[in-house]
Amino acid sequence: MSHPLATLLPAGRVLTAPIDLAPYGVDGTPTLRGTAAAVVLPESVDEVRTVVRWCQETGTPVVTRGSGTGLSGGAVPVAAGLVLCLARMDRILAVDTANLTLRAEAGAITQQVADAAAAAGLFYPPDPGSMKISTIGGNIAENSGGLRGLKYGVTRDYVMALQVVWADGELAELGTACVKDVAGFGLKDLLIGSEGCLGIVTAATLKLLPQPAARRTLLALFDGMDAAAETVSAIIAAKIIPCTLEFLDRTTLGCVEAYARIGLPTDVEAVLLMETDGHPAAVADEAAAMERIARAQGARAVQVAADAAEGIRLATARRAAFSALARLRPTTILEDVTVPRSRLAEMVRAVQAIAVQHSVQIGTFGHFGDGNLHPTILCDERDTAEMRRVHAAMDAIFAAALALGGTITGEHGVGLAKKPYLPQQLGPSAMAALHRLKQAFDPKGILNPGKVL
Ligand SMILES: Cc1cc2nc3c(=O)[nH]c(=O)nc-3n(C[C@H](O)[C@H](O)[C@H](O)COP(=O)(O)OP(=O)(O)OC[C@H]3O[C@@H](n4cnc5c(N)ncnc54)[C@H](O)[C@@H]3O)c2cc1C
Repeated sequence: MSHPLATLLPAGRVLTAPIDLAPYGVDGTPTLRGTAAAVVLPESVDEVRTVVRWCQETGTPVVTRGSGTGLSGGAVPVAAGLVLCLARMDRILAVDTANLTLRAEAGAITQQVADAAAAAGLFYPPDPGSMKISTIGGNIAENSGGLRGLKYGVTRDYVMALQVVWADGELAELGTACVKDVAGFGLKDLLIGSEGCLGIVTAATLKLLPQPAARRTLLALFDGMDAAAETVSAIIAAKIIPCTLEFLDRTTLGCVEAYARIGLPTDVEAVLLMETDGHPAAVADEAAAMERIARAQGARAVQVAADAAEGIRLATARRAAFSALARLRPTTILEDVTVPRSRLAEMVRAVQAIAVQHSVQIGTFGHFGDGNLHPTILCDERDTAEMRRVHAAMDAIFAAALALGGTITGEHGVGLAKKPYLPQQLGPSAMAALHRLKQAFDPKGILNPGKVL
């Protein structure tokens, strides 16, 4: 029997066969799975509104989905309902070189947005590791970060306006293409990072920057974690804000070498990938200063890329980290705890101690300049005894991050995976405020039910 929505939409928009639904039951988060009653693939904002109005009338849950690369289970359908996948709404609508903005539909791939900006000689800085696959709508819903966050900020810093479909199917434009706009309560900012729970983003106006004229990449190798952490602090204290300050621990480096064969020694405790961009003279000065600082803090070696191609080769060490670790065991659980930068070395040591205490294998890499770590637990979800130890280790990692003044999630969002830990971080009063907001935006609770709250 065909789905009732099939009569309200053009042909080919609604999938109901179990084999078609299967890929939409998971996202990038291991161990979480669900099944939707149907998947809808709208091609216009009017079709999105038709679907959402029908969901409102029938009380049907609707999980918005971009590319399903999320790492907190946000796009996994837990209540029997619809998955509304915006992948076909992927057009770049305009690049405005006079106002330095770009307008795209929510299903546009992040890399396409960056490429469209670059084709006009402009720069869209947010670069999540998943940017070749993730959608701009998913980036906005998670407020995603990337490797350039230290200097350029995260997705929120580049969202100027959003087209949103509310839970009742009504349409709103939040924000403008104006550099300054304080009209109203900042609804646009509330929607950013709201994980599909407050409204459905159908299009966005994004801020662009001029392309940096030059870039220089350096890789520093350290025999101790503290020296790497001190190097980060000393670089920032020297008033240098590199675009990238990324870190790999010994376990991760070993995996990366086995996978990508970059030619790095595997007996070092920490590797820092450092990148500076901007005016060529400033880049040359900053690269020289960062090399000096790393050596003064005891780096065993510092490699400076001679050209762009070598820069890309050195950066591969960091970009390949997740894939390299994922080869070791069947299940890869990537966390994103974040601590104030001054507590980074303590957090890395805490993760290492937790791995030993709970007998689990953890490699850690991440955005050192942002205090954002990716402890990556390598395990096998079919082994129940091992998974008990994994969950105990995750509890301990979140507790350690909170004890250091950190957060349970720096960029992947709460979704399902971190929902049990959110009250520990926010406390009852902030949790109650979140519930009141959800009630105000979505009184029937149809938008991504069971997530975050
Ligand atoms: C290899 C890998 C590397 C990654 N690297 C990074 C990284 O460096 N930084 C980072 O921050 N994240 C990273 N991620 C996580 C993930 O890619 C991001 O969260 C990304 O923004 C998700 O985009 P998506 O289109 O896949 O969204 P999905 O996974 O489809 O959805 C994510 C959430 O957003 C909601 N949503 C999606 N589209 C919309 C919309 N249009 N309107 C309202 N809600 C919507 C969904 O309901 C869900 O809650 C990585 C993931 C992988 C697998």
